[in-house]
This record gives sequence, C-alpha cells and structure tokens, in this order.
Amino acid sequence: MEDSSPAFGPTGVEQVLHSALPETRSTLMITSAGKRMGLSSQEIQELIAPAEMRVARLSVSSGRRVLNFWCVVALHNMACGPYKGGVRLAGDVDIYETLELARLMTLKCAVTGTEFGGGKTGIRVDWPAIYALHGKDCVRDRDRGFELDITLALMERYAARFRPLFERHEYIPAPDMGTSPDHMAMIFNVTRDPASVTGKPQNVQGWLPGRREATGWGISRATTRLWQKQGREPKDCTFAVQGFGNVGSYAASFIAREGARMVAVTDILGGVYDPAGLDVEGLREYTLETGSVAGFPGAAPMELDQIYDVECDVFLPAAIGGCITDRTVPRLRCGAIVEGANMPVAASGVAPLHERGIPVIPDIIANSGGVVASMEEFSKALSAAAIEREVVLDSVTNRIETAVERAEALALEHGVSLVEAATELAIRRVYDAMRVRRFI
Ligand code: NAD
Repeated sequence: MEDSSPAFGPTGVEQVLHSALPETRSTLMITSAGKRMGLSSQEIQELIAPAEMRVARLSVSSGRRVLNFWCVVALHNMACGPYKGGVRLAGDVDIYETLELARLMTLKCAVTGTEFGGGKTGIRVDWPAIYALHGKDCVRDRDRGFELDITLALMERYAARFRPLFERHEYIPAPDMGTSPDHMAMIFNVTRDPASVTGKPQNVQGWLPGRREATGWGISRATTRLWQKQGREPKDCTFAVQGFGNVGSYAASFIAREGARMVAVTDILGGVYDPAGLDVEGLREYTLETGSVAGFPGAAPMELDQIYDVECDVFLPAAIGGCITDRTVPRLRCGAIVEGANMPVAASGVAPLHERGIPVIPDIIANSGGVVASMEEFSKALSAAAIEREVVLDSVTNRIETAVERAEALALEHGVSLVEAATELAIRRVYDAMRVRRFI
C-alpha cells in the first residue's frame, strides 16, 4: 500500500530550522535502505533526524582580545550506545555538515557492532580572520604555537561548557580534523574522568596503545582482504593515496609492508608519482620534515587533480569528502576504492561506480578502526585494565572483516552496492534498538 505519512511527521525538524534537512549521501542511502526494509517514510525520517542539536558561542581570551567561536554539537542517535564522534575545528563548519558527520558515526558504530551511537562536534575556526585580528597574515606569519595556544584554550572552554554531557558519558568526544590527542587531554583535565573522552595522549590515564594507527590499520586490512578475495598477492598490486595525514600515511605504510606498491600520493600542497613504487617510509620521514609529500626526491611531480587518473588496483581517498562525483567517476582507472576519508564518494558517485563495476569498501566499515579502538579505550578507562596494542589491532581486524563479509552477502542478495548494503545493515540494528526502546 502507498505510504502517505508526512515526510517528517511529529519530528518537525523543518519547522524548527525553518528549512528541510538537506539531501546528502547518508540520507539517500538510509532512505533507499529503509524502503527495502519496508519502513514508512516517517520511520525513515526518524532515523535521519538528530535527537538533539546544540549550538553555543565559546569565548577565548587571546592577549587583550576576546575570540568568539560558534560550536555545534550534533547528537544524532543513542539507541545503541552513547553518542560518539570527533571534534572538528575548521573554517567551513556548519550545522548540516556536523549533523551529516554525526549520522555517519551512528551508521559506522552500528555496522561494526560497536557499542556507541553517533555524535559530532564542529567548531568554526577561521584562521585568516584570527591572524588578521592580530595584525598578521595566516600564510606569511603562520605560527603553530600561536594556533595551539588558542585551540587548547578553546578546548578547555568547550569541555567546561558541555561538561555534564561528557561526565555522564552521554557524548564521548575524540579527535577529528584540526584536533589531536593534546586537545583531548584538555577535555580530560576538565572532567578528570578518563572514560569521558577517547584519543587521549600516550601515558595519560586511560590512553590506548594502537589508537593512533588504528584507522590506517583497519583500512589496510580491508584492502588486503579485497585482494585476497580476488585471488591476488599484494606484491602484484598497486595503490594510490589522496591525503597523507594520519589516515593516509598509516594505511599506506601497512599496505606497503604487505608488498604492494604505492604509485601516487597527494596532499594539500602537491603530489608525487612513480609507477615503479614510491618509498612509503621515506615519504613519511620526508613529510615530517617538510610538511608535504611535494618535491620528494626521485619521484615525478603530480597535480592534485591528477590523482583520479592514476591507473592502480586500489584508490584510497584519505583527505576530503565529496570528491568522487558523477563527473570524476568516468576518469577513474582504479580497480576498487577503499574509502579512508568520510564520504569521499559523493551521493552522485555511488550509482555510476556500481554501474562501472568498481567496488567501494564504504567508509563506515573501512575507516572504522578509530572508533573500534575508541571502544577499547573507553572500556579500558572504565576498568583500568591494561590492554596490548596487538589486542586492539586484532579487534579492529575482526570487526572490519565481519562487517565486510555481511555487507557483501547482503549486496549480492539485493543486487545493490556495498555502500547501500552496509547502510542497510547499520540501520537494521539502529531501527531494532529504537523500536525496543520506544523511540520510534
Ligand atoms: P589529517 O589532517 O591528518 O590529514 C589530512 C591529509 O589530507 C593531509 O595530508 C592534507 O594535506 C591532505 N589534504 C587535504 N586536502 C587535500 C586535497 N584537496 N587533496 C589532497 N590532499 C588533501 O587528517 P586524517 O586524520 O588523516 O583524516 C583524513 C580524513 O579521514 C578526514 O576526512 C577524517 O574525517 C577522516 N577520518 C579520520 C579518522 C582518524 O582516525 N583520523 C577516522 C575516520 C575518518
């Protein structure tokens, strides 16, 4: 029977925000999965809509000046566990992007069987404006110490403002773009509770060995498993990486250790290419010294945009979201994509990739290593029991392999892409938990 329930029903998000929630990759994937499951449009909207959104202005003193930052805390869904998600500092943060990232966390935790829900924090930090206020230029006068002082103070304000959420373990933050373990230490200083935040620095109470490299490790497991399924040896395979930060560099290092060749890599400042294979460890050291892969000796230079044209077995986008669109897909010469970043494949890229037969290991599985490790960190902090790095990495491997296997089976059964199948597995779990808790 035709479902005639209103798009948002009693949730009424569009009335509160005076606009409808934008269509995004996750809303489209949840909608199509919900329809396959026979959910009503109202139930689907309840899965898409956040439980709570908080917006706050945080004031930080800088010399004799006061800097005000807008902060969004998106609490998407806690049916399966406490809200979990990183703190992002960026110049282009907005309420909808933060919500989309929180929704992605809900899906990621659900599909990997991690006992968390989904949340995210976005704080708009406009460095050019901050430098200008101090009479400086953000490129010419770049001062990492100045930026760290401001962001550490900002984190203390943030922790003080939302302290009850963290102390009650309602929302457990972690590092994301623009924040590091040092920033998480500031949250811990305010709450004095090692279970209130994950991604804490080494040797701080409740820190976790393996947490830093867990995301890259998980991506490497997803990649080598793919080749194994294809009956191929890593030593006969090639890969290209977009973004050589925490995710990209660790993933590249682990994959290269299996014998595969990295033929191209880019970061925000440039790229390098060598069909014979780049020296990944050499590049990691070079990047630490120079701040970029650009100019790495012995390799050919490459424009950022050329990464999509590189012939390789696996393309590993590990930098930005939304870069693989219906316009980029025809250019790709890779055998598969493993999503290191969050949503590098835009909504418009999902179907063309499926049609071209290029498998995509979705972000909610491939880059879930960080949140799986966070679960270990959270439980370790609660119990105070020590945990070995190998145990953490094994936990990541097991959860990723199980999730990929289940997604592959469902994708085959329904004739859909892995991205769609993984989303369906996730919302099945969230929907069941919401039903039984009478949230839906
Ligand atoms: P990072 O800041 O350590 O590194 C980002 C890298 O991307 C840098 O090398 C940067 O130069 C590069 N980059 C930025 N814009 C680029 C562009 N246009 N072209 C090419 N390179 C570009 O960040 P990270 O922690 O490695 O995270 C990367 C992505 O993965 C983010 O989207 C993040 O949200 C996501 N992610 C991270 C984790 C984690 O545990 N760190 C977990 C899940 C998802």
